[in-house]
Amino acid sequence: MNIEYKEIYKNIFHTQFPLTGNPLKSINIYVVKTDDGNLIVDTGFNNEEVKMYMDQMLVDLDLDLDKTALFLTHLHSDHVGLAKYLENKGISKIYISEVDGEIVEVGIAPDGLQWQMTLRNAHRQGLGVDNLKLENHPGFIHRPKEMFNYTPLRPGDKISLGEFNFTTLDESGHTPGMLGLYEEEKGILFCGDHILGKITPNITFWDDSYGDSLGTYMKNINKLKDMHIEHLFSSHRELVPDVSARVDELLHHHKERLEDTLQILRENGEMTTRDVAARMKWSITAKDWDDFPVSQKWFASGEAASHLIHLTAEGILDEKFDEDGVAYYSIKNEE
Ligand SMILES: [Zn+2]
Repeated sequence: MNIEYKEIYKNIFHTQFPLTGNPLKSINIYVVKTDDGNLIVDTGFNNEEVKMYMDQMLVDLDLDLDKTALFLTHLHSDHVGLAKYLENKGISKIYISEVDGEIVEVGIAPDGLQWQMTLRNAHRQGLGVDNLKLENHPGFIHRPKEMFNYTPLRPGDKISLGEFNFTTLDESGHTPGMLGLYEEEKGILFCGDHILGKITPNITFWDDSYGDSLGTYMKNINKLKDMHIEHLFSSHRELVPDVSARVDELLHHHKERLEDTLQILRENGEMTTRDVAARMKWSITAKDWDDFPVSQKWFASGEAASHLIHLTAEGILDEKFDEDGVAYYSIKNEE
């Protein structure tokens, strides 16, 4: 097995692990290697193929697990998949945010709180008519089946390693507790899925307790424009050379999406999230909503929800529930 590595900064190595069967195709894995210990950022999915890549990387980069820690940017299974595997192999420490760590924990059991929340959201979004099953939800399929021990982090916590002084950065939005790892002096940010080149990070509605995730996301990417970032190390695809320009593109994208959402409500009146999602433009090729792959209906409806909830939080839309608990959105007195 021949894996390619690139030293993308002095003592920081980059490689890619495959995400077979996933539209993201691969995940960027980063390793900080110092005399003082090592740090691996994210792991890839929990499957045999990725385990082979991980094992090979530990050998190739000569990573002594006693002196190696794992930093998980966020709870998604392509990032945390092998955490338990590395724990069993003896990795010294596993870091994840307090918020995302708790969500992983309540998502281990198939009837855990995370999945109850997913089903509740689907009902609220009007997806009842589509008869979606959790068994078709990619997050459910790939969820970790065993919990790992972790050191919970909050934004602003410090992790020092050799010549690197990292501070965790609040990147909530894509998930409720995503954290970046920021080295201010060197201008390095391991940003997880906060900013990706060419693809737009998925923003979904999580739960009322996390509120307007799109609003949170837009606020948190906007902050990057005032920070010293020379090296943005994202989790998927190519690296982003100009952070400010990419932030502006993403903000513009959501502004247009919000405008499209309003236009759909203007033309059709009061609607459920699912019916708005069915009328939005999507990059996948499906002739209509019925033709949408089931796994993508979960995502599309979640993304439509994040836009509707944002417009509601901004006071532009009204949200009403029918006696069944399904939410309907309409434009507030536009006359
Ligand atoms: Zn993610």
